[in-house]
Amino acid sequence: MIQLHNVSFTYPNGTEALRNINLRIEKGEFVFLVGPTGTGKSTLLKLLYCAEYPTEGRVIVAGRDVSRLSPKEVPLLRRRLGIIFQDFRLIPTRTVWENIAFALKAIGMGRKEICRKLPEVLEIVGLSDKAHAYPAQLSGGEQQRVAIARAIVNNPIILLADEPTGNLDPETSLEIVDLLARINLMGTTVLTATHDKYIVDKMRKRVVTLQNGRIVSDRERGTYEHYASE
Ligand code: ADP
Repeated sequence: MIQLHNVSFTYPNGTEALRNINLRIEKGEFVFLVGPTGTGKSTLLKLLYCAEYPTEGRVIVAGRDVSRLSPKEVPLLRRRLGIIFQDFRLIPTRTVWENIAFALKAIGMGRKEICRKLPEVLEIVGLSDKAHAYPAQLSGGEQQRVAIARAIVNNPIILLADEPTGNLDPETSLEIVDLLARINLMGTTVLTATHDKYIVDKMRKRVVTLQNGRIVSDRERGTYEHYASE
């Protein structure tokens, strides 16, 4: 589902964010990508959704080599992915319903189908009674649930999460990661970048650890391991 072959990435200012990464994630896996801030987790995710392109090596997402995808093809790739971030990225002036519907309208879905899909996805994330609330009227955990609903409403094959619990307390963080695990059980491959030891140790999923842009460990049913500079 996801493959990186000898991938390196250097930002234009000369920062070497990723160094010779080799990683393979199969369909249906749930993987934590961990490591302290600045080790390259976000950059690795960016290569998967083509916000950046590798300086060296190849990146394969859902069977496609996306290392040199043309700008025209990027929206098509992103339609097959769900992406969530630490800061939720909701539209503050729109309700929960409108925030999610907006994503579907953008890909040309008609009103009838949107009205069929929305209640289903709100039910999955446990927000059926908040459809007409505005983001500011919701807790952080609820806002992240809206972002997750928006990310999964189009049935993505891969869900990418960049520090999804970074703004949440431990209990709410666990609820959010439980939700990601449930979505994973429905068939979506999930890759979560995090430096939240608490959730990683609770979940006991595959843990890939980055240190200074390199993979330093990759363990099934792993825990958060600390390395030299932490
Ligand atoms: P993480 O997600 O693990 O916190 P990042 O992928 O954001 O790490 O960053 C990896 C390295 O790349 C860091 O040294 C960071 O400062 C640097 N970096 C991130 N974004 C940029 C950018 N746009 N330009 C230059 N350097 C960047």
